[in-house]
Amino acid sequence: MTQGLLTIDVGAVVRNWRRLCEIHSTGAVAAVLKANAYGLGAGPIGQALLAAGCRHFFVAQPREGISLRKLLGPGPMIAVLGGFRRAAEFDLTPVLNTLGDLRACSGPAILQVDTGMSRLGLDSSELASLAADPSPLEGVELLYIMTHLASADEADHPMNAVQADRFAEICLKLPRARRSFANSSGIFLGGRYASDLARPGCALYGINPTPGKPNPMEPVVRLDLPVLQLREIAAGQTVGYGGSWMSARPTRIATVAAGYADGLPRALGVGKLRGMLRGRWVPMVGRVSMDLMTFDVTEVPEADEGDLIELIGPSQDADALARLAGTIGYEVLTSLGNRYRRKYLPA
Ligand SMILES: *Cc1c(COP(=O)(O)O)cnc(C)c1O
Repeated sequence: MTQGLLTIDVGAVVRNWRRLCEIHSTGAVAAVLKANAYGLGAGPIGQALLAAGCRHFFVAQPREGISLRKLLGPGPMIAVLGGFRRAAEFDLTPVLNTLGDLRACSGPAILQVDTGMSRLGLDSSELASLAADPSPLEGVELLYIMTHLASADEADHPMNAVQADRFAEICLKLPRARRSFANSSGIFLGGRYASDLARPGCALYGINPTPGKPNPMEPVVRLDLPVLQLREIAAGQTVGYGGSWMSARPTRIATVAAGYADGLPRALGVGKLRGMLRGRWVPMVGRVSMDLMTFDVTEVPEADEGDLIELIGPSQDADALARLAGTIGYEVLTSLGNRYRRKYLPA
């Protein structure tokens, strides 16, 4: 094997979704499948969640919605967060973000209002103009009014309560409709953040929605990289581009098959990242290159070519890897790319 192996536990995604349904028991729980289900595969994951009873899906872009509809068939709601004027043609539900979207829309839709993200959705001046002249709402069937939390991953952030207050206030001024509020982290903020439809993404995929506390979700992703070659180097010899790492002793180097072109950030840097080889931690040494990385496996003398070094798994999750590279688990997952052999463990 000369490619990394990315194992995606679809059963764990389904169990994570069920777990979120238990916590968000007063409303329904959708699944956010944008960016190919955070890089993990919208097809297999969407189909498994549909079979488990999920009836609401969100994607970011029209193309994602069109291909997901083909995979899931008619029935479940598939909403396009970024808006889509031709949604109805493709049996998709548009998220309306502007007054212009509202005017152009007839039929079922979700209306997004901005409560603090300042990104998408009607702002206070557009809402005031809608209150003065509600004609843009004519012909629109409001399935949900939705808003998005900016800081739900920081439970004590004052913005959370501000957004909950604003959302409640705005909804009272709009025609009566169901509400959609919490993302993954919002589900864990408690009852004020519950709504008719939660929209978790990251938590389904095993990313910790409660940073700083133990991860309540089951791990989903495992990444194993095969050792392509082993070599002995003398003390004082450098490894990799720029000769940025030098051995202090005779060292055994394992070169594995993945690099920054596979979503492993170059910023993982020297001396920070480790992998698990035959049950022992081995440090990465030298720079991450495009297709390759090198590990010091001196402490695992029985290591052999073809062995797998576990980079993401139960002992080092995507969040931990992300911290080493100065990013977040979301970015690690969505960057993993398509050069790995993918194995889907069935639900
Ligand atoms: C991405 C996204 C979500 C899901 O967020 P997570 O933090 O991954 O749970 C929910 N709502 C909107 C509007 C989003 O853009």
